[in-house]
Amino acid sequence: MARGVEQWVSPAIRELSAYSVPDASGLIKLDAMENPYPWPEPLVERWLATLREVRLNRYPDPAARRLADTLRRVMGIPEAAAVLLGNGSDELIQTIALTLSGGSRTMVTPEPGFVMYRMIATFAGMKYVGVPLREGFSLDLPAMLDAIERHQPAVTFIAYPNNPTGNLFDARHIRRIIEASPGVVVLDEAYHAFAGASFMDHLPEYPNLLVMRTLSKLGLAGLRLGILAGDPEWIRELDKVRLPYNINVLTQSSAEFALRNHEVLDAQTARIRADRERVQAEMGAIPGVTVFPSQANFVLFRVGRGEGDRVFRGLLEQGILIKNLGGGGGALRDCLRVTIGTERENRAFLDALRRVCAAGV
Ligand SMILES: *Cc1c(COP(=O)(O)O)cnc(C)c1O
Repeated sequence: MARGVEQWVSPAIRELSAYSVPDASGLIKLDAMENPYPWPEPLVERWLATLREVRLNRYPDPAARRLADTLRRVMGIPEAAAVLLGNGSDELIQTIALTLSGGSRTMVTPEPGFVMYRMIATFAGMKYVGVPLREGFSLDLPAMLDAIERHQPAVTFIAYPNNPTGNLFDARHIRRIIEASPGVVVLDEAYHAFAGASFMDHLPEYPNLLVMRTLSKLGLAGLRLGILAGDPEWIRELDKVRLPYNINVLTQSSAEFALRNHEVLDAQTARIRADRERVQAEMGAIPGVTVFPSQANFVLFRVGRGEGDRVFRGLLEQGILIKNLGGGGGALRDCLRVTIGTERENRAFLDALRRVCAAGV
């Protein structure tokens, strides 16, 4: 080990593995919940025209006011709520954890859930408590309430719909969790566009609720823009921890342009939702494949016992990259996650999955 690493890098960080992103070149990429559709050419031309106005020699507007106003309008953020923007919602999770860490503060979250919660808790120096979901991936409300009572978490993260399972938790359970929490509850609505359910309208009822969104899954993953809405006093404290100018001028201008033309993104997400239903139905008809119902732009499925790695590699050999989640065993043993792509990509995936599954029996 290089001189000083062992002495100065904490064991908690040395034990982490960096968030790994596999090389997808030459493959059909269905591993990262991206929207597969580009913009129509006339829209691209108009977008490029707006970029001409951007001044790269100047720092960005630190509060991204124009963009924030457009986001409020398009996302229906309640007037009483304040807004904080992040370089992706990952950065917002980090900002929340850094603001609340210290002492022996705890983060609670249902598991399996979004892997960055645990990772960020670890490097921000928070204690992390994962509460297992029930069979079928619904919330275990008594276990959640018990963990909240016992650990008095500074923050509870709940993805709604959940990643990697794809389901929406029962809204009544979430209300009970918000009401029982001494700390803040962050509802991570990264997949809102595919779900048709949200807590955004409930923000004024709950001063300890924050609603997080991202433009990534909507079709702008390359821009890196996350949105956090909630009580102005909470947002004011979090804003102190945000680095200045965290949203660059190209992102501010491009995101604003995209949101002003959100009908294009809306049409794309509607199409993805419709395709999701077809893909789920076809997957469910393949012998040996168990599909978990999804309200997101991906589908979690399980293959035969001990078959997960073989199916993943078989798909890869046929040029299709999805996500293999079974590595740790447990609740996700032999589970894989596929993102809904274009019709052609979905077809290629389904054909390959049929072949790989048939070869296993
Ligand atoms: C993808 C994802 C994010 C991260 O989104 P970015 O805005 O791209 O950083 C956050 N939460 C969940 C649940 C996600 O699936």
